[in-house]
Order: sequence, then structure tokens, then C-alpha cells
Amino acid sequence: MEEKESPVRGSCIFCRIVKGEIPSTIIFEDDILVSFLDIAPAISGHSLIVTKQHFETIAETPDEVIQHIALFAKKLTKAMSFALAAEGFNLLMNNKKVAGQLVPHAHVHVIPRYARDGIDLNWRPRKTLPNMLKECAEKIKRFL
Ligand code: 5GP
Ligand code: ZN
Repeated sequence: MEEKESPVRGSCIFCRIVKGEIPSTIIFEDDILVSFLDIAPAISGHSLIVTKQHFETIAETPDEVIQHIALFAKKLTKAMSFALAAEGFNLLMNNKKVAGQLVPHAHVHVIPRYARDGIDLNWRPRKTLPNMLKECAEKIKRFL
């Protein structure tokens, strides 16, 4: 049988931060989420919003928790505009190792952006055709 990739709760680094077992620079906390500064930031102010309960990805995270995180992310961007003079933001959530998720505990990155900040989040655009777009959209739409 294939071994499950997600860690047992006891060894999950973000669960340990939530429990206060590992120090972190917390900027906000309530019953549902904790937000703290990323230890290896893309830029100063790069923050993480982490669910208090252990869920691996967006798929397992309850709708009301996602809603709460989204509203907090909005509030955080506003705070970053005032506090850090951020001119823009990237909100980013990596889901699964294949998408770059290093910590398998659901979290959203909030990255303040400035002109010429040198942060590179870009992918190389691929060529496509109208019929390829249509075919792909049809496939997805069947499940929505
Ligand atoms: P992911 O690739 O899973 O979306 O991102 C995980 C993020 O968590 C990375 O940006 C990484 O720097 C951050 N991180 C990993 N371990 C710790 C930690 O112990 N403390 C803090 N504050 N951030 C962490
Ligand atoms: Zn966890």
C-alpha cells in the first residue's frame, strides 16, 4: 500500500507553530487561523495565513474556514498597504507537492509587491488555440 504523504499531526511544522511549540512572528490569531511572517520571505512582510486545524490542501478545508481566510487575506492586504506602503499583492496557495507545496498544512501566502521588487512568480505562457480552450473549458464545466 502507498504510504500517505501528509505528516502525522505531531510532526507537522505548522501545527507546532499553531500550538506555540515552535516560535513564530505572529501578526494575527483567532479561533480559526493564525497569520505569521514567513521565515524565508520573498520580500519583507511576506506573510502566511494558516488554518488552526490541520488540513492538507484547499480540498479538505471546510468552506467556512476558506471564507474566513479569504476575508482575513483582504484585511491583511489593506494593513500592508498602510503599514508597508505595498503597491500590490500576490495571494498564493500551493496545493500538493507537485504544485510546490513544501509544508502539507493548508496555508495562503500574502506577498506585498512594489515596482521593480525583483520577485519572480512568472511562468512561461504556452501557445493555445480557440478550440483547445473550448475543449478544456467543456471538460471542467462538467464538474462545476
Ligand atoms: P509552501 O511551499 O508549502 O507553499 O510554503 C511554505 C512556506 O513556509 C515557505 O515559504 C517557507 O519559507 C515557510 N516556512 C517553512 N517553515 C517555516 C517555519 O518554521 N516558520 C515560518 N515562519 N515559516 C516557515
Ligand atoms: Zn498541520
